[in-house]
Amino acid sequence: MSSVGPTDTDVHGERRIEWLHEVCSALHDELSDLDDGLPASYIPELSRVDPDRFAIAAVGRDGRSQSVGDRSHHFTIQSISKLLLYGLALETHGRDAVLQRVGVAPTGDPFNAIELDEEHHRAPNPMVNSGAIAITDLVSGGNLDERTAVVLRLFERFLGRRPDVDRAVCASERVTGNRNRAIAYLLANGGIITDRVEETLDVYFMQCSVLVTVEDLALIGATIANAGVHPTTGEQIFSPQVTRDVMTVALTCGMYDYAGEWAYTVGIPAKSGVGGGIVGMIPGVGGLAAFSPRLDEHGHSVRGVKVFEALSDRFDLHLFDSDRPWAAPT
Ligand code: GLN
Repeated sequence: MSSVGPTDTDVHGERRIEWLHEVCSALHDELSDLDDGLPASYIPELSRVDPDRFAIAAVGRDGRSQSVGDRSHHFTIQSISKLLLYGLALETHGRDAVLQRVGVAPTGDPFNAIELDEEHHRAPNPMVNSGAIAITDLVSGGNLDERTAVVLRLFERFLGRRPDVDRAVCASERVTGNRNRAIAYLLANGGIITDRVEETLDVYFMQCSVLVTVEDLALIGATIANAGVHPTTGEQIFSPQVTRDVMTVALTCGMYDYAGEWAYTVGIPAKSGVGGGIVGMIPGVGGLAAFSPRLDEHGHSVRGVKVFEALSDRFDLHLFDSDRPWAAPT
């Protein structure tokens, strides 16, 4: 736990914001030399990214933001889209209908494991691919175009612009996505999803290929952390109950087979994507994000994990730091 830096209890105060910028700049400099890991290559198009890109961003619930590095660089959101689609499914269908198809149990397995929760006859959780594909099956609409429009409209509300989709990444994943295809057919075979399997996979590949910046990710995190109210537009995108559910599964399952270590060391509900992004949600405070394409064996950005470890420590952001100064009653 940190003992240096501004001690004012207002986490949104000017001094803390300035301090955050200083710390992020220093971390960016320090970690720029770290070149462990490799960009994802199982989606061939992803291996074409510049592996040295690096950016960090924070957005407070009041909309104030800070970012350093390649802040305007666009990359594919990949599995971070699972947060938004899970929220949408809960909003649209309600908890019971969603829980019938997708549980909330961490698997301890990699994100692309071909598995079901056999006991409950459902996908294990919405953060791994099997649960995420089951969630995407729940996107309403009569055909691919209508369902694609529903997903893009959801992103638009978070990003404040019509999202672009990286068509090359999407096509690349579609061509090489037989593992996800296997998962989807297993779900369909069990009657957990409908048999519009290829259409649902197309929606899933598209949602993963939405282009975002690190600042977009921090804004998404800040919205969810702010009980679903967008910090700049003021729109209530998800209800407080839905954001609580989304953050809960992010904490327990968002980092897959690294979720336990992550909760222990970082203690921030988070979600990563194989495009190199990680987003964290600090309830009632704001969103943090990092982007760097070199990944570890779990599929998480190597530098991104280090950024979160350092920021959690320096700013006492672990959820269970009960003596963090800004959490003290005023
Ligand atoms: N589109 C990727 C896949 O389904 C997303 C995985 C990830 O970001 N962890 O394999």
